[in-house]
Amino acid sequence: MSGVHEGGCLCGAVRFRVTGDFEHFFLCHCARCRHDSGSAFAATLFSGAARLDWLAGREQVRTFRLEGSRHGRAFCGRCGSALPLETEGAGLAVPAGCLDGDPG
Ligand SMILES: [Zn+2]
Ligand SMILES: [Zn+2]
Repeated sequence: MSGVHEGGCLCGAVRFRVTGDFEHFFLCHCARCRHDSGSAFAATLFSGAARLDWLAGREQVRTFRLEGSRHGRAFCGRCGSALPLETEGAGLAVPAGCLDGDPG
């Protein structure tokens, strides 16, 4: 799970590149992730060291943080697709489905 990974949102407005290694891949079934994703679980890759670069549409990126928790999400303000979220101290969280390719 190393190298360069590119991805984007459904409408194509937002594009990004992640450079570095993912250390963890979680399928989280908690209530927050179910409500957040609208699905049975959230599939998220995590990295403490990878670098995130927005290639296009950075101005469309919105973030939401759930008060009183560490749960947050980034999404396209146009189409609502999940996008990578940088959290101070906790690194980078990348929804697996927004990547173009197979992260390995
Ligand atoms: Zn979009
Ligand atoms: Zn969760």
